[in-house]
Amino acid sequence: MQKQAKILILEDDPYFVYPIRCHLEKAGYEITVMDIMKNLEASQEMIFQYSPNIILCDIKMQPTGFEILKVIKNHTQLRFIPFIFLTGVESLPDQVRAYLGGVDDFIIKPIEKDVLLAKITSILNRQANLESAIYLDALTQIYNRRFFEKELARQINLHRRHKDKFTLAMLDLDHFKSINDTFGHSLGDLALIGFTRFIQSQIRSTDIFSRWGGEEFVLIMERSDKLGAVKTLENILNNLLNEVLVRANDQDIKISFSAGVAQFPDDGTNYKELIDAADKATYRAKTSGRSQVKYAE
Ligand code: GH3
Ligand code: MG
Ligand code: MG
Ligand code: MG
Repeated sequence: MQKQAKILILEDDPYFVYPIRCHLEKAGYEITVMDIMKNLEASQEMIFQYSPNIILCDIKMQPTGFEILKVIKNHTQLRFIPFIFLTGVESLPDQVRAYLGGVDDFIIKPIEKDVLLAKITSILNRQANLESAIYLDALTQIYNRRFFEKELARQINLHRRHKDKFTLAMLDLDHFKSINDTFGHSLGDLALIGFTRFIQSQIRSTDIFSRWGGEEFVLIMERSDKLGAVKTLENILNNLLNEVLVRANDQDIKISFSAGVAQFPDDGTNYKELIDAADKATYRAKTSGRSQVKYAE
């Protein structure tokens, strides 16, 4: 889950940004500087697209840091991002107002390099632990539904803006209940873990693979169309059929899945339409005999 951490700096003064940027880049962080200007609405969208791990925000600019803070903390997705004010020494009432508004900390100008890096490192570590707890599935350690929902919303916005397509696939394991019934629930758990490891070994790093719930999984493939996605999944399914994920009583346990693929924007332009289309296609894969991949019609 931990890639290079992304730091967003909201600051209108390039002379002030320069040393911060140098310190943080030298420490290995990815830095983006944004000048919010007047358009807070469009800025929110850009921030959501960038999905920074932490926001450093100047107070004295237009709009003010306090105005930006309010917008970020009211945004359903952005409000979880740690938010730090870059500032001179603030009055006590302003400090109180900032903390109550959701600010995590202050970094005081002029910047002390060691303090800057220590604060950023500690907040990012805490955030990473928190995000693993929030966004990873406890059994398989792949992304969970909460992450998937956030990510699908982000992918829809991203591909809409670039007038591009992507695919959403739903994968449902075949006759999984009988594995539990025959070999026990613990072995079923191992099979689910083995299955997720196997899928992870077969997909690209830009694909987003998540547990939707139970023995159902979802896969987002950026900039792919449904014919390509079906081919990819058929290949994966073929490889899976030759793979032993777990053994019980000297018996190889084989698993297959039925999958349905929907394409943005052709089969749906919002969350619900895409899920429904992929779900229907999965149902057709099931009723056509399982262990196969269908696309939305
Ligand atoms: P189908 O081919 O129609 O999808 O059949 P199925 O048996 O896979 O579908 P069904 O919905 O009847 O059963 C899903 C099974 O998945 C039942 C449930 O106990 C099992 N399951 C869901 N989550 C877990 C889990 O976390 N661990 C284990 N061991 N089993 C799980
Ligand atoms: Mg300023
Ligand atoms: Mg199911
Ligand atoms: Mg099933």
